[in-house]
Amino acid sequence: MGSMHTGLEELGDWQRVANFYGRRAEGGVGLMVTGGIAPNQEGAVLPGASAMSTETDIKNHKIVTDRVRSLDSKILMQILHAGRYAYSDKAVAPSPIRSPISPFIPEELDEGGIQKQISDIVGAANKAKIAGYHGVEIMGSEGYLLNQFIVRHTNKRQDDWGGTYEKRIKFPIQVVKRVRDSVGPDFIIMYRLSMIDLIPEGSSWHEVVTLAKEIEKAGANIINTGIGWHESRIPTIATSVPRKAFTWVTKKLMGQIKIPIITSNRINTPEIAEGILRDGAADMVSMARPFLADPDFVNKAFSDNSDTIIPCIACNQACLDHTFSMKLTSCLVNPSACHEDEFQIKVTKNPKHIAVIGSGPAGLSAAISASQRGHTVDLFEAKDSIGGQLNLASRIPGKEEFLALVTYYKKRLDTLNIRTRLNQNASFDLLVDFDEIIIATGVLPRMPDIKGISSKKVVLYTDILNEKVSAGEKVLIIGAGGIGFDVAQFLTSDRSSSTLNIGKWMKEWGVADPEISRGGVSQDGPQIDHPKRSITMLQRKFDKMGKTLGKTTGWIHRKVLKSKNVRMLSGVNYEEITSDGLIVSFGEMRKDIQLIEADTIVICSGQVPDVKLITELKEIGKPTHIIGGAHDSWELDAKRAINQGTKLGISI
Ligand code: NAP
Ligand code: SF4
Repeated sequence: MGSMHTGLEELGDWQRVANFYGRRAEGGVGLMVTGGIAPNQEGAVLPGASAMSTETDIKNHKIVTDRVRSLDSKILMQILHAGRYAYSDKAVAPSPIRSPISPFIPEELDEGGIQKQISDIVGAANKAKIAGYHGVEIMGSEGYLLNQFIVRHTNKRQDDWGGTYEKRIKFPIQVVKRVRDSVGPDFIIMYRLSMIDLIPEGSSWHEVVTLAKEIEKAGANIINTGIGWHESRIPTIATSVPRKAFTWVTKKLMGQIKIPIITSNRINTPEIAEGILRDGAADMVSMARPFLADPDFVNKAFSDNSDTIIPCIACNQACLDHTFSMKLTSCLVNPSACHEDEFQIKVTKNPKHIAVIGSGPAGLSAAISASQRGHTVDLFEAKDSIGGQLNLASRIPGKEEFLALVTYYKKRLDTLNIRTRLNQNASFDLLVDFDEIIIATGVLPRMPDIKGISSKKVVLYTDILNEKVSAGEKVLIIGAGGIGFDVAQFLTSDRSSSTLNIGKWMKEWGVADPEISRGGVSQDGPQIDHPKRSITMLQRKFDKMGKTLGKTTGWIHRKVLKSKNVRMLSGVNYEEITSDGLIVSFGEMRKDIQLIEADTIVICSGQVPDVKLITELKEIGKPTHIIGGAHDSWELDAKRAINQGTKLGISI
């Protein structure tokens, strides 16, 4: 299990940290790496971020290692020195160059400062050993301090620590050597090596291989693959990145060194992991987010039950988006991640017969968790398949992972013997004998009040995504929330999603072999097939488009659509739909009135609760719960729906 920053360490409740790692150890994880732990204050990603520098730190971490050791797993502490990525005025770096993702200019380290950083990293490794860790992972990638020394992009020094490549890699080599000298031979040192920086002036492949050999010589036991710097404008783990998109990079290093090499990034099923090992592309496979999605991933794979693994859909919505919003990590598909105590399922002493109406994410989660409690559950779905809005999401090129989630839910309903009643409109007569009713009927598209809205040009996003209607050559999209962006993506892509084709995806993002192009950034830049269709997205707000999209993924959606020449207009008033298109004006003064020609106008203006059944069902007089979009459609997403459904299911 690869390193993930969860925010649990910063809460100060170390039993809870132990519960998190312990739960993964129980689930069969053989070797796990903690989130990044700073060796000192200046290396912390944020002021107050977890460090390993005091006796108290040792005591706290021991609670975690004792738990993991008692469960026969192994745990390494990741030592992460943020360098210029530290969000603080104490940031230090090889050269005083601000990173594009931080407002702080780091202080240039002098010789004394460099020695102090190395000593503090060595000190952290020693303390990790005392705290009971089996070893450390030294974070040398993703653009953090060690990586900053390695490349010219961030290292402009002309002393012993900069200039030639030999001098630029002296810092990470010294770190590994001195950690090894200090901790002795029987302590694992894993080094996370940036194999493809994905930034201009990144390392060449020859340099990567040279560094790997030197790190091995310096005393590392394992090399882990790092992909891309945080400031890189190429996505590396988002859901639109193909599965195992970067394993070919790890494979290039195989055979060049003797110690084991780990691969990582967008590996989320045991089958993919096994395929990588069979292909000789790595000695070991690291996954991180899949263990948030399902702590029992390994045990389920081991017992040939991989189809019961809750799939990580790589959405980032409850993990990285939370981290970057200073919220505790969790998981969209598994809200119990990092909330292990809160979501314990206790078998009920009072089994009931429960009807769940609607099989979107809220209804499915409620049905599954209520069934796990020991209730008998009937799930009613008016359509011919389960999944609700998840099915629509899975139709968007780049969001294919949602299909895996629906497939998982189908399997789960079967294994739990939940009676799924498809094509069945729930009604008073059918429900009268149930003990409790859960209404999860979801949402309906909101129809905006615009003059001429009944025009034939106007279509709902649901009809576009379900391909009930096809769009013309000139399309306007009204509403630029998550669905507006999804529809634009759908209408600008041909049907061969680059997420399912690594070569095509690499071309679209300008990713090259680092052996040909330094840092893996293609000299030719991204190669995009421009769509024939012209698309304009509109919103009434003056905000930047896509402001409500995911914190760590919004930029990807914006960049893709801009590269496909999608026009984005904010601050628009919708005046009238005519036979030629849409007449709009701008701003409060309704200025600059103009016609935007269109043959199709797609409505993506949010959702309203589908409440048709609610009044009728309340009259049955049985306890009735309304969840998901049927309860409140405002900013509803699958994360909130699953959380709400699960909470209800385990408490009913
Ligand atoms: P949304 O995010 O609330 O966006 C609705 C859009 O419609 C806004 O752009 C809004 O902008 C506009 N709008 C609202 N009322 C309107 C009205 N009466 N007339 C005209 N325009 C109106 O809703 P959504 O796009 O349907 O998405 C639903 C949920 O799914 C959201 O929580 C969203 O975050 C989530 N989702 C996320 C993603 C993603 O992150 N990639 C993808 C899909 C869905 P103005 O008011 O400025 O016009
Ligand atoms: Fe995976 Fe999304 Fe869960 Fe993060 S929130 S672990 S990306 S499913």
